[in-house]
Amino acid sequence: MRIARTVGELRAMLAGAGDVGLVPTMGALHEGHLSLIRRARDAHGTVVVSIFVNPTQFGDAADLEAYPRDEKRDLDLTREAGVDIVFAPSAREMYPEGFATTVRVTGPLTESLEGAGRGSAHFDGVATVVAKLLIAVGPRAAYFGQKDAQQLLVVRRMVADLGLAVDIVACPTSRERGGLARSSRNVRLSPSDRERALAVPRALEVVATAVAQGERDVADLRARALEVLLAAGVEPEYLAFVEPDTLEPVREVAGPTLCALAAGVGGVRLIDNTVLSPGPQAEERHTIEEY
Ligand code: AMP
Repeated sequence: MRIARTVGELRAMLAGAGDVGLVPTMGALHEGHLSLIRRARDAHGTVVVSIFVNPTQFGDAADLEAYPRDEKRDLDLTREAGVDIVFAPSAREMYPEGFATTVRVTGPLTESLEGAGRGSAHFDGVATVVAKLLIAVGPRAAYFGQKDAQQLLVVRRMVADLGLAVDIVACPTSRERGGLARSSRNVRLSPSDRERALAVPRALEVVATAVAQGERDVADLRARALEVLLAAGVEPEYLAFVEPDTLEPVREVAGPTLCALAAGVGGVRLIDNTVLSPGPQAEERHTIEEY
């Protein structure tokens, strides 16, 4: 496994590489990242993992400061996973002196949900850094987690609008036992907060079960989810039922519907989501007991 610190080094390593898959990450790798890496490993001759805690997507300097970092461990994990190249640039390499270009996806895709909570500048940071990574690596496909459903939509929009020749592959959310979505931030949860955090996947599960049993009314589904969350003392920042491609709010689950939520638990901001399907496939969805 080789490590590139600059775009120049990366390009030299990739010269002649045929079929490249890219997995962009912010490091502090966990099983969720590894599931993306395995997907890429199965599909491409060369796998590149980027590790870059992107300062421009953090609104809050304290959050950026507190973001977990452990490069040595990350490199051990990527090596074990059969990654060919890790691209781990400095902030100065990604944002050189005088940097003045932003890639911005406008409208509800970036203004709602995470954009409303964190400010739409968050997605400017995401779109800009992902565009730079795609241009630097030139992969045939790049792998993203469904856990960050809105990020996936923003990246897809940006790739379509800029005409970048890359497949964006969505990968399912990897969960801990009990259903908590894996996240680098989970290491900051105390044991009791980790217990409370289980209300997040449980609320999604309650909603999915109600939909499978025929409930379609979003006001009712919201009340059921809130009951689970509030019983655990978890106050959601948002709990949204939206059209999965446009993020427009819906009042009833008439077709596939994204149920997404964000909540702070013990100072750690958690996000999670599930796609609700009113059709017969609803009964086939995975329950949290399977994880
Ligand atoms: P991050 O390092 O948190 O920026 O995440 C890097 C990539 O891994 C993003 O595409 C995330 O959506 C994805 N990811 C993070 N957590 C998970 C998870 N629990 N399951 C699947 N993908 C994930």
